[in-house]
Amino acid sequence: MLGFIFTVLSLTALFALAMYRAPLPVWAAAMAIFTVSLQLGLGSGELHWPVFNVWALAGWLIAGGLFALTFPEIKRKFLVLPVYRAFKGAMPAISETEREALEAGTVGWDAELFGGQPDWSKLTSVPPITLTDEERAFLDGPTEELCRRLKDWRMRHELHDVPDDIWDFVREEGFLGMLISKEHGGLGFSAQAQSLVLGKISSRSSDGVTIVMVPNSLGPGELIEKYGTEEQKAHYLPRLARGEEIPCFALTGPFSGSDAASMRDIGVVTKGRHEGREVVGLKLTWDKRYITLAPKATLLGLAFRLFDPDNHLGRGEDIGITLALVPTNHPGVEIGRRHLPCGTAFPNGPTSGKDVFIPLDWIIGGQARAGQGWRMLMSCLAAGRSVSLPATSAAGAKSALRISTAYARIRKQFNLPIGFMEGVEEPLARMVETAYELEAARAVTASMVTAGEKPAVISALLKYVSTERMRDSVNDAMDIHGGKGICDGPSNYLQGAYQMAPVCITVEGANILTRTLITFAQGALRSHPYLLREIEAVQDQDEARGVADFEEALDGHVGFTVSNIFGALLHNLTFGAFADAPPNAGPTARWWRQLARASRSFALVADLTVALLGGRLKVKQKIAGRMADALAELYLLSSILKRYDDDGRPEDDLKLVNYCAQNCLARFDLALAGVLDNFPLGWVGVCLRPLVFPFGARRPAKDRDGKEIVRAALQPGAFRDRLTREIFITDDPADRIGLLEHTLQKAVAAEAIDKKLESAIRKGEVKRFYNNDWIAEAEAKGVLTAEEAGTLKELNELVGRVIAVDDFDPAEIAAANTANGSSGSQARTSNQSEAA
Ligand SMILES: Cc1cc2nc3c(=O)[nH]c(=O)nc-3n(C[C@H](O)[C@H](O)[C@H](O)COP(=O)(O)OP(=O)(O)OC[C@H]3O[C@@H](n4cnc5c(N)ncnc54)[C@H](O)[C@@H]3O)c2cc1C
Repeated sequence: MLGFIFTVLSLTALFALAMYRAPLPVWAAAMAIFTVSLQLGLGSGELHWPVFNVWALAGWLIAGGLFALTFPEIKRKFLVLPVYRAFKGAMPAISETEREALEAGTVGWDAELFGGQPDWSKLTSVPPITLTDEERAFLDGPTEELCRRLKDWRMRHELHDVPDDIWDFVREEGFLGMLISKEHGGLGFSAQAQSLVLGKISSRSSDGVTIVMVPNSLGPGELIEKYGTEEQKAHYLPRLARGEEIPCFALTGPFSGSDAASMRDIGVVTKGRHEGREVVGLKLTWDKRYITLAPKATLLGLAFRLFDPDNHLGRGEDIGITLALVPTNHPGVEIGRRHLPCGTAFPNGPTSGKDVFIPLDWIIGGQARAGQGWRMLMSCLAAGRSVSLPATSAAGAKSALRISTAYARIRKQFNLPIGFMEGVEEPLARMVETAYELEAARAVTASMVTAGEKPAVISALLKYVSTERMRDSVNDAMDIHGGKGICDGPSNYLQGAYQMAPVCITVEGANILTRTLITFAQGALRSHPYLLREIEAVQDQDEARGVADFEEALDGHVGFTVSNIFGALLHNLTFGAFADAPPNAGPTARWWRQLARASRSFALVADLTVALLGGRLKVKQKIAGRMADALAELYLLSSILKRYDDDGRPEDDLKLVNYCAQNCLARFDLALAGVLDNFPLGWVGVCLRPLVFPFGARRPAKDRDGKEIVRAALQPGAFRDRLTREIFITDDPADRIGLLEHTLQKAVAAEAIDKKLESAIRKGEVKRFYNNDWIAEAEAKGVLTAEEAGTLKELNELVGRVIAVDDFDPAEIAAANTANGSSGSQARTSNQSEAA
């Protein structure tokens, strides 16, 4: 008994010391007490005089070593300096552009997840969706109206362009100036409002949203608002807000895509003539491609590398990446040709210029901001990436779900709505989950931005996760629709989103790069509590100061690692029973505890991954990608739990929250297990598995739970409406989406009557062939009443319209192709740099 009590007390003390990060002298004293206790026989329960054996020797050596480390000189010589030198060798120097990317934006909830002991208040204090009356009125008024006016097929196929009446409407209503402050003539909307407006438009038309999104995201408007000179603000912002200027922003070039900072576009400070006078200015040569709105733009935001060989600016030769505003009608600007990205209709194209002279005050922010372009871009990206693409992706997932649940309930095969078949239920369950999760993450992230954060790491992970999951949802929707989704035409409501999905995946940092290079590698540096301080310390030119800073960070880091080892083990052994949850967490308390448990495991693996791989993390991208996936699941789970609370904990949503949470944790475990299984140093996986997965990985939610949420989503009502909130919805049968909604209501209402008819057909009492009016026959034979027959006739006609696909006269297709320049087009594939 004594031995048992001793073991329990010793283990409790060990876990307490580790988890509460006891200081070194306490560890040394604890070790000494433990060793004496062993010598006295407490461990075996047989008390005797102190013995001295090999265990006692080991215990005293450890206690002595820990005690010695409490002397600063000894600690520095035997611990800090060797680690400092090893660290210095392992960590590559951070380049200037990397540093600027790292310093841009803010850390917030991501740091809590990286830290392993989340402070819930950092998440729960993020405000729920809040709009001003003006923002709500804009969402319900002009945004709804714009959605009604957008004709997807006309844009994608007939015009291959966004028509002038749509441009006029968005200009007049102020859509192009949502992010521009009221002071400068814009709407000055919050990030949350912008996100909801963009989401609603994109649920109607991917092309329509692009022309609104680009002026309201990274580009001239935002850059001028944040960094412009007073003259630039006064001149351009009201014009941009009114749509008198159409902006585009050109960063990408043929040789600088993902590695945009390696651009070959150049500006040279020199004298030249502008408006009849000789002034100091810039001679620009650029070659850019893929630039959204470029063919339509009047104002080109341009990124280039600036050099000043004659030192006009007094800052040496290489000034760095600089941004300028160039009117597109300025002599020498080549712009107007178009790319055709996946057959979408929004304007996108290349631009170039050779030795184009502009005055110095066209630099965004003026001369003082020359060379700060990369920092400005990264800072805007951290906020912007949190809003636009998550908004359009969440809306894409919600629309795909709304459409597919309606279609799956209306479309019957084998005498059954296809949504009731398990094979179809499976993708539908994924779609329900995705719609809930992406909307949850969109909402909380937009609220963070509204509150003033610029979440750099979260924006990167949300960008890749939301666009990937949206693409999966659109693909699932296509599969559920079969041929109806594939055959294009005015009645196809999926093609636009399907064509747009790869565009979202590629822009604002292509997903493979964002997942495998940016999210975790940057996240670890940004959000890890000690890593960046350690790196900065070893890079400090003043070595004495560097070592001192390093020692301070290392002290914290060792405590952090030890606490995570024991914290992860404790929570994983006890299935999170002792993990923390926010007060009054209610029915989701268990998931908050699982989130805390998972965060501990993540912190442990992330810490060791960074410590052991160091600079190699940049090339070990499969490891970094899986760590990014794990972090993304933690973020999604946080968002889900927050949404459930913010929504007022609707009873019907609990089953969905349980389903999503279980799947998030299963995917989290899968990602982390992948890291351990593939870690470049095999022993790491062997050592960490018992800590992280003492009882194996968690399993995804059960099929029966998926069935429950799908059945609920197939039913018109509050649950389905909440899942698809804030998208454009109409039940006007003249509209292709409205037709679905309208027919769904009728189909559900007529289900019982329909069953009667089906039964009669199965029994052979009524013949269902094209040459027979089977509903009339059923009425004549008394299977249906006249009223029931009328209901089914109407439904039959509506279903026929829902499932119809378009067909064309070949001449019609040829004519459209000729009009769009698809045959005999003047395609050009050269680029200026090659020619040079
Ligand atoms: C429709 C459309 C609109 C756009 N609009 C604009 C715009 O308005 N303004 C603008 O400046 N740009 C714009 N872009 C450019 C966009 O940002 C780039 O396409 C993107 O940065 C990727 O560059 P890339 O296409 O040259 O691909 P590449 O850089 O050639 O990349 C190819 C693949 O390699 C991966 N990859 C590259 N490097 C790494 C790495 N180190 N580690 C792992 N994977 C890596 C990428 O993820 C990608 O999957 C647009 C692009 C498109 C298609």
